[in-house]
Amino acid sequence: MKYYSTNGRAPLATLKKAVRKGLAEDRGLYMPERLVALDASFLNNMKDMSLQEMGLHVATAFFGEDVDAVALKRIVDETLCFPIPLVEVEKGIYSLELFHGPTLAFKDVGARFMARMLRYFGGAEGTGTVNVLVATSGDTGSAVANGFLGVDGVHVYVLYPKGKVSPIQECQFTTLGQNITAIEVDGVFDDCQALVKSAFVDEELNRHMALTSANSINVARFLPQSFYYFHAIAQLQRMGYDAARQAVCCVPSGNFGNICSALFGHKMGMPVKRFIAANNSNDTFFRFLRTGDYQAKAGVATIANAMDVGDPSNFARIWDLYGKDVEAIRRDITGTTYTDTQIADTLRTCLGETGYQLDPHGACGYRALKENLQPGEVGFFLETAHPAKFKDTVEAVTGHEVSVPERLQAFMKGEKQSVACSRDFADFKAFLLSR
Ligand SMILES: *Cc1c(COP(=O)(O)O)cnc(C)c1O
Repeated sequence: MKYYSTNGRAPLATLKKAVRKGLAEDRGLYMPERLVALDASFLNNMKDMSLQEMGLHVATAFFGEDVDAVALKRIVDETLCFPIPLVEVEKGIYSLELFHGPTLAFKDVGARFMARMLRYFGGAEGTGTVNVLVATSGDTGSAVANGFLGVDGVHVYVLYPKGKVSPIQECQFTTLGQNITAIEVDGVFDDCQALVKSAFVDEELNRHMALTSANSINVARFLPQSFYYFHAIAQLQRMGYDAARQAVCCVPSGNFGNICSALFGHKMGMPVKRFIAANNSNDTFFRFLRTGDYQAKAGVATIANAMDVGDPSNFARIWDLYGKDVEAIRRDITGTTYTDTQIADTLRTCLGETGYQLDPHGACGYRALKENLQPGEVGFFLETAHPAKFKDTVEAVTGHEVSVPERLQAFMKGEKQSVACSRDFADFKAFLLSR
């Protein structure tokens, strides 16, 4: 399988190149050249398959031509190593809980899969260590660092703004050691992002070491997210629902990698009636659906901060997948946007009425279903993170204590190790050159 760039001005790439490079030479995002239609027997038997079996089947459709079958099975099994239950919140509305992994957020799935693909295409083929640079305002850094921890052939550098991430987030990437190096930048998140971007285009640095990014632009990070949508649909089928006619899939969205993987799954045959993209006040996609015109704007800070994206990268993939046809996109996807006040109200009301504790991101998804579900439909939203990751916000809004799972507490006991760095690129570059 070859991968083309959404900008159309870069050569076709192999999977190995797409995974090791991340972004195409023309700054476009890689897209698989073909989508393999899933066979009828798989689609008919989904409801009897385990999460790992289903993941392997979908992974084979994407990557089977380029990754050895035994290796791919191992990558899938090591990725899908925690349960992803579909939990009823109230009649007809289900939460797909993606927070039972190591860092309690859905990014664990993509990060674990991508790390293992790099191992396969790096160390295993003798092409040397790949260095992953990731700038984080908190959550991405922890998922990537933990997903890549101890994986041969990969070294991760996590850049984070000094004093600007919560203590619990900081522990999740500064206490790991091994192949993870945390870099504490004397600046804000945008400085971290700028350092990473400068590093990717610096020729001397790229001659010195193989560099890649680990955000959802990487095909090995975003495509595996499709696995759990099949899993959710299978569970609805088991309950007797006709997914193609009834199932509404609602995704709290920021950079749109997560929903994009579901749309790929749908194009390959996953039965779903329709999708909802739930936004916070960063409503670029919502406005696009309204006007047909994509107008990015600067991100604004909200209490669902992992969705604070004003110019979602993966929009380019959705636009390409739907042949640049606004009407076709509108037929499959509707949008919603909620202010912080509405998100807070939803956290409170849902807890009061159903006893279910949402996190601020899942709250956007739940509310979108609650407001838009039609008679005869059944909906599920993605609960993208555990409420304990946003403990202060959730407790302040609901007045109820959120208990912190042991996995999260364990990070707090480790010893913090990080390298201090200024926001000057020359400093960062000198550090990397010394490695
Ligand atoms: C990253 C993230 C999102 C947004 O996902 P995208 O793939 O960027 O749309 C939503 N919720 C949480 C908790 C996240 O960490």
